[in-house]
Amino acid sequence: MRCAIIHYHELALKGRNRPYFEQRLVTNIRLVLRDLGIRQVDALPGRIRVVLKDETSWNAVNERLKRVFGIAHYALAHSVPLDLARPDLDGLKEAVGREVAPLSFATFRVSTKRADKRFPFTSVDVDRDVGAHLCRLTGKKVSLGRPDLTVQIELLTKAAYYSTKKEAGSGGLPVGISGKVACCISGGIDSPVAAHRMMKRGCRAVFVHFHGRPYVSRASEEKVREIVRLLTQYQGYSRLYLVPFGEIQRQIVLGAPAAFRIVLYRRMMLRIAEELARKERCWALVTGDSLGQVASQTPENLSVVQEAAQLPILRPLIGMDKVEITEQAERIGTFEISIEPDQDCCSLFVPPHPSTKTGLGTIRKIERAFDLVALVKQGLAQAELAEFSFPTQ
Ligand code: ATP
Ligand code: MG
Repeated sequence: MRCAIIHYHELALKGRNRPYFEQRLVTNIRLVLRDLGIRQVDALPGRIRVVLKDETSWNAVNERLKRVFGIAHYALAHSVPLDLARPDLDGLKEAVGREVAPLSFATFRVSTKRADKRFPFTSVDVDRDVGAHLCRLTGKKVSLGRPDLTVQIELLTKAAYYSTKKEAGSGGLPVGISGKVACCISGGIDSPVAAHRMMKRGCRAVFVHFHGRPYVSRASEEKVREIVRLLTQYQGYSRLYLVPFGEIQRQIVLGAPAAFRIVLYRRMMLRIAEELARKERCWALVTGDSLGQVASQTPENLSVVQEAAQLPILRPLIGMDKVEITEQAERIGTFEISIEPDQDCCSLFVPPHPSTKTGLGTIRKIERAFDLVALVKQGLAQAELAEFSFPTQ
């Protein structure tokens, strides 16, 4: 049988959460592989098995599994039946021999794990027995330190699985086990990385983007759609709210001193995002703020902005610098999209000297001149919803 054997970090699984974690991971894997001709995905003791059809492309499966959070490592494996009543390793030795013989390597080792401890041989017995067979067959040497090839063997109750190439998974927790969060996404470099970090901790991201139409083109919206499409590969399904913000900004420009505009924009964004978050049953808002990066991200301004929302605001990049964030964006694949030129609402009506130490009292006084409830309503009324799925069919 040809399959993928998938391992998760045992450490991530504390007590009663374990079945929930496993079940969610199985569901997420099923969803992401659904168009690739998979026979079944099931939870075996301590690992997950994906049974592949003969014609299923391993490359395609591999590409997909790389982006599933909650996976520590995995491998393309084959199996031979094992019978606990009459256990013998001949079938396994032969099969591993056939698999390994055509590969090119100088040194190797065999590494066995026994999920079912009732077998009359230990893991080390299996390592030795299969290893000796491979030495005879190939003439190659065993190296326990840094072998060219490691043959992994896993003994389960009814079958032994063997594989020769371990792939690193992306770690983290399966998307969905940490609830939903609303991610404010701008089309810049930072906010997609922030969303990705929260997905990696098991959150499903709902995206909210504020665009400057009718005062600017659709460029920022198109960029954000493309970023969300890419990030959807990590969570299978996404919702993106596109909120027109140009008119709200114009009203702020007309009614407030220029230096405070940025903080006022941010507070309005959060109020609207919070309403959408509640509608979507999100437990938190997420931004790509990094301390001190720009005027809106000074300690004082972050505090004043935060005060506009009741839900927790998560800022997963707060302690990272631009170089680190950029590296992550490149790894995820969003960097190339983020650096395309655009004009989002942030580039509209930006004052030359924004206040970097805004006091809450000052802002509250200025906001008294506005009908905040009406502005929020206006944003919500015009919000458009876009949905994304991966795989697309
Ligand atoms: P980014 O690279 O994410 O745009 P930035 O360094 O440009 O970040 P700001 O423009 O100050 O920083 O934005 C800080 C955060 O506010 C962003 O990371 C994002 O979460 C949110 N934000 C900014 N502009 C928008 C927008 N147009 N729509 C939604 N969220 C936004
Ligand atoms: Mg920005």
